[in-house]
Amino acid sequence: MITWKDVINFSVNGNPTPDTRVEKTDTEWQAQLTPEQFRITRQKGTERPHSGALCSTHDAGKYNCVCCNTPLFDSTIKFNSGTGWPSFTQPIKENAIKYEKDTAFGMLRVEVMCNTCDAHLGHVFPDGPEPSGLRYCINSESMQLEKE
Ligand SMILES: [Zn+2]
Repeated sequence: MITWKDVINFSVNGNPTPDTRVEKTDTEWQAQLTPEQFRITRQKGTERPHSGALCSTHDAGKYNCVCCNTPLFDSTIKFNSGTGWPSFTQPIKENAIKYEKDTAFGMLRVEVMCNTCDAHLGHVFPDGPEPSGLRYCINSESMQLEKE
């Protein structure tokens, strides 16, 4: 299980190696994504809270990266955080997610990205439920639900 200590360690000392890499130009991503998906995943945007289609869904399945379709989270680790963004307590596997320190807006936060294609997903905070204590706060627009 990944804990806040691991998150800090990844963001300071380097991330786990992904199974595979997907690299495309902005033009290629733009052709494949909606404008809102492009703004969030490739330009580190944030959707308005409670606006995301996946915020209140609890269907069983996997949450895949909207850019490269790599599984990132699954419905068993999703929880209702009340924040207005889909929230998870763990990644689907340790090397699915990439962590980077983000000092934008004068705050120290940890940005989470798809480790396969570097899509911006959201942030992770150390105020989630036990046992991991993590809250991955993720934009709906950066994921697609593959229902079981
Ligand atoms: Zn991806």
